[in-house]
Parts: sequence; C-alpha cells; structure tokens
Amino acid sequence: MWWKILLAVLALIIIASLIRAATLKPKKIQTVKIRDVDIDENKVAEHLSDAIKFKTISRVRDEGVEWEEFEKFHEYLDKTYPLIAKNTTKEVVDKASLLYLWKGKNPDLEPMAMLAHQDVVPVSEGTEKDWKYDAFSGHIDGEFVWGRGALDMKNHLICVMEAVESLMAEGFQPDRDVYLCFGHNEETVSTVYTGAGTIVKTLKERGVHLDSVLDEGSALIDLNIKGVIKTKLAAVGTAEKGYVDMKITLHDKGGHTSAAPKHSGMWKLANAVRDLEKNQFRSHWLPFLSELLDTLASRATFFGKIFIGNYPPFIPLLKFILKLIPQGASMCRTITSVSMCEGSPAANVLPQRPSITVNFRPLPGDSIADVEKHVRKVIRYKDIDIEHFNGKEATPFSPTDSRAFKAIESVENSLHPEGVAVAPYLVMGGTDAYRYGEICDNILRFAPFNVPLSLFFTTHATNERIPIASLAEAVVFFREYIIKVSDKD
Ligand SMILES: [Zn+2]
Repeated sequence: MWWKILLAVLALIIIASLIRAATLKPKKIQTVKIRDVDIDENKVAEHLSDAIKFKTISRVRDEGVEWEEFEKFHEYLDKTYPLIAKNTTKEVVDKASLLYLWKGKNPDLEPMAMLAHQDVVPVSEGTEKDWKYDAFSGHIDGEFVWGRGALDMKNHLICVMEAVESLMAEGFQPDRDVYLCFGHNEETVSTVYTGAGTIVKTLKERGVHLDSVLDEGSALIDLNIKGVIKTKLAAVGTAEKGYVDMKITLHDKGGHTSAAPKHSGMWKLANAVRDLEKNQFRSHWLPFLSELLDTLASRATFFGKIFIGNYPPFIPLLKFILKLIPQGASMCRTITSVSMCEGSPAANVLPQRPSITVNFRPLPGDSIADVEKHVRKVIRYKDIDIEHFNGKEATPFSPTDSRAFKAIESVENSLHPEGVAVAPYLVMGGTDAYRYGEICDNILRFAPFNVPLSLFFTTHATNERIPIASLAEAVVFFREYIIKVSDKD
C-alpha cells in the first residue's frame, strides 16, 4: 500500500514540475526602435587607446598621485568632445573629479546621472614585463584595445562621452538634467574621503535628488549550457555588500619567554580565529536570487525550465551548495576573513596584547553593529577590545521596476531581439555608486560590453584588454538609455 502512496506523490511532483516549466515565459518587455546612427568603432577604439595613455593612477595617499596626468586627461576630453565642452557646465570637484551638467528642458524633473571613474589601479611591481604590450601604451592590434583601464573603466567613461557627444550632434536635448559624474579615486577603497563622496555632497547641498544612477557593474555575458540555456545575461548590480575591518585585541599576562607557561597569548589568538571560522554568519536566501533564477528559467530550454524553474522547494539545498563555493557563500552570507595577526614586539617577549584583524563583508540585512555583536558572542574570551576601520554598511536593494531598470531591459532586448535575461545581482566589491544612496533610490551597476568571461580575469591584472567589437554597441546602449531615462514620460 505504502508504495502506491509514494508513487502517487512522485507522480504529483512530476506533474507539478512539468506544469511550472510549461508556464514559465519570459517577461513581456517593451522594446524601442533603435535610432539610426553611424558609430565608427575604430574611432572609439582610438579614443579609448588615447585615454589609457594617461597614467591616472589613484593612490591611498594623495602625495603619490600624478595630478598632471588627470589635468592632461581633462584637457583631452575637452578637445575630443567639443560639443560636450560647449553644451555642459563642467566643474572639477575635489582636485580631479569631474561633474558635468547637461541641462534638460524641464527643470521640474529629477535629474539622472551617468557615473564612471577616471582612475586605474597601478601595475603590480615586477609584473610590468609580463604584459604583451606596455600597460599604458593603449596598443590596438586590430582586435583588442590593450592596457590598464581597458575594462575598468575607461571603456565605460569614453563610451558615455561618445554617446552624449553624438546625441548632441543630432540636436537631441534631454527632458531631465543629465549629470556625468567621473570620480578620480574609486580604486583606493578609502572610505573617509573620495571624489565621488564630494560630488554627492556638492549635489546634496544644491538640493539635488537623482532619479537614477548608472555605474560600472557586470558586463553582458553569453550563457551557454548545452541543452539547458543559451542566452545573453545582463546582470545589473542593485545592491552592494558592506565592508569593515575589525582589529580584535586579546589580553594576556605577558612576561619573559625563558619562563613561558604552556600556552602563550598566541594560543588564545588561535582559539579566537577558530571560534570565528567555526561560527560563520547565518546565511539568507535574499529575494534577488529568486528573481535571478526566475529570469534565467524563463529563457531556458524546456529541460532547463524543469531544472532551474523548480528551485523553490530546494532553496535550503541550494543554500547549502552555495556555501561550499566561496563566491556562492559571498552571495548568501556575511563573509569573515581573518587576514592579519600580531603577537609581541620581540621574539623573547610573551604577547600581552595579541591581536587579529578581520575583514568582514556584511550581507544586506547585517549591519556593522550586528557583526560586532556576532564577534563578541562567538569568541570564547569576553575580555576583548574591538576597533573598527573603513566601515561601510551594505546598501539596500534598488527596485527592479524603476524607469532606469526597465530602460536597461528594454534597450538590451531591442539591441538583441533573440532576448536578453536582465536580472538583479549583489555586487561583492565596491563602486563609487555606493556614495549616491544619500541622494538616489535607483542605483544600478551595469557595463553594456559584450565581453567573454575569460577576459574579466584581466581586470586589475596583466594584459587587461577589451574587444573593439564591443565598443560601438556600448555607445548605442548608452545613447538609448539616456534617451529613454531622460524622457519625461
Ligand atoms: Zn572600477
């Protein structure tokens, strides 16, 4: 008898899975007619190549920065984009950040902002010779533009400028104001002071509240798993994880090592590390993961739909699997990473104040105060001191039904009629967009460059380069995005 019940339950599950798979359809997206425009991708490639030649490297300390490189870059932009120079007001904010304002027709509408950062990371010492072409040569080999900043993110900055310049050449004027905000020290992770922070402060003082912000993020990726799914994926970063370094100091007796007890203060330190690593933060299945899977399932093959689309009952299992992979764990919980430790100042001195420094990446929902509470709870010693550095809370999620998010869906699906899965994701690192939470509720991070996944690993690394073929499409994307988001309706 029991096997009959089991069979019936199994049959019901299979029927329910098939029904769900059959009803999963891509969301209806209103496409736009892409305006005719002739973008010369070789010209864009040359401009990007020129931009890479300016060594706009940001440093944690201002003293090491070659400011004249930024000044020369600014002059270059004025010369290369004369209509932007003529039709916008440009301010240099906080030494080298740029704030352009392109006035719209209707001052009552909330302005929109296009972000990029001008700075790049340095080439790691000793790896200069590993580059096929010099990192600041901007070499063009017919297929790629090579150099530091080709992907992160002079490509983005130059393509936004090309888009605006070409719209101006056609006599287009936006309904709402358009700000172009180009920070100069995004890469330094300095949380006390940044160009982007000063831009936001400037706008806030002027009473500006933005309709939306578009900044760097994931690119347009080709997803191809045979028989399961074949689509382009535009993952749009709608939130950012937090960041905080905590120095945790323990107390011990100290003394001379010639008469050391069985365990020194380092034993306590090791126990503290063990407590932290053993007691990880609770994981959470945030709604963006469901939205991401739903969007992918709707574009999968029938088999893929059965496979991906029936995830809801398996969320606990999926969470378990995600936690086994470091990148996956990062999407569903606050990450604990013990990265530094300190004992005593000399080999013959017992440590009195041994300490560890731990880098935490809080998940949206966990505040820095929650992190400290967790640390105090799980470490077995109660007599500890905790100092915070570089604290930055995780951001809330921007909605996916805003005019800006819908514009990305609409423009990408108009550029690729075969369909693009546009879905939210959580940004693990940091961007300048983080600062804009004070004056904007729709903060999106997406780079419309169709780039093979393998090239992503060259970001911040050796042989950073971008396919020339991805540039013209990005310019068209930015044009259409600006047209759509700046429109009054
Ligand atoms: Zn960047």
